Amino acid sequence: MRSIIPGDKENWCFICGSYDRIEEHHIFGGSDRQISEKYGLKVHLCNAHHHGTSGAHGRDGSKLQQYLHETGQQEIEKRWQEQGLSADEARQRFMREFRRSYL
Ligand SMILES: [Zn+2]
Ligand SMILES: [Zn+2]
Repeated sequence: MRSIIPGDKENWCFICGSYDRIEEHHIFGGSDRQISEKYGLKVHLCNAHHHGTSGAHGRDGSKLQQYLHETGQQEIEKRWQEQGLSADEARQRFMREFRRSYL
């Protein structure tokens, strides 16, 4: 599934707009990677914002991770609301599928 994150483009970094060494990043990783793929919860990042020290997978990447988690949760809950769920139902569905809320 293509990314559903507004502003994400395949050839530039979602964070800094660089066109250099762009990589695809699944917003919810580990055991949630497949579900991220299923819902298009992905962004494109430059190598620095992906694997650099403050990148999503970096030692100091927790702030960026949190920002991406919040953005991803907001977008998928918005989609589910457009499909007819209430805000509460969308939050409950998120917590069922991802086992926690990032918001
Ligand atoms: Zn970047
Ligand atoms: Zn990644």
